[in-house]
Amino acid sequence: MKTVGLIGGMSWESTVTYYRIVNEVVKEQLGGLHSAKVLLYSVDFQEIEACQANGDWDKSAEILGTAAQNLEKAGADFIVICTNTMHKVVPQIQQKISIPIIHIAEATAEKLKENGIKRVALLGTKYTMKEDFYKAKLIINKIDVLIPNEEDMEIINHIIYHELCLGIISEESRNKYIKIIGKLKEKGAQGVILGCTEIGLLIG
Ligand code: GLU
Repeated sequence: MKTVGLIGGMSWESTVTYYRIVNEVVKEQLGGLHSAKVLLYSVDFQEIEACQANGDWDKSAEILGTAAQNLEKAGADFIVICTNTMHKVVPQIQQKISIPIIHIAEATAEKLKENGIKRVALLGTKYTMKEDFYKAKLIINKIDVLIPNEEDMEIINHIIYHELCLGIISEESRNKYIKIIGKLKEKGAQGVILGCTEIGLLIG
């Protein structure tokens, strides 16, 4: 069995899900008492969020690059970054290590192709929805990406940082998300990417 190196803590609320799912999949595939070989490097999200807000992506790449180097030294065979947003700095992190990073958007594109989805809605932080680092991986696979309008993006983003990353799950916010997804469905979305690791805590 390979050892996965998780870079987590962004936020820790959603990293818990990774630990659970990785173990569930190993149990399902190998049975018995098998469980996953996991190394977790969990960062202080306050530091990372400050980098995002200040536009200091180089500093965040430094922090996550050091985490990745430590995971490699500790014996990880590959890296998974437990946040969509920080995939913005994957190229810089990859330069610092010789083990591969499994890119979340590439893995998602594969699943979409398997399911025959050609037009998809993308929800996530404002960085993930507006910038290219995530969307480009879908577009290159000939998948159309729909994002919410400006006002709805603000709602989605605000709920992520002010509720979900703090462990606050509210019915009102769930309804707002469902309404926004409905609008994107009307525009032709055949599926929706919960492209922020906390959204799964709100919507199944
Ligand atoms: N976990 C979130 C994501 O998947 C947002 C937190 C972050 O900015 O890293 O994008």
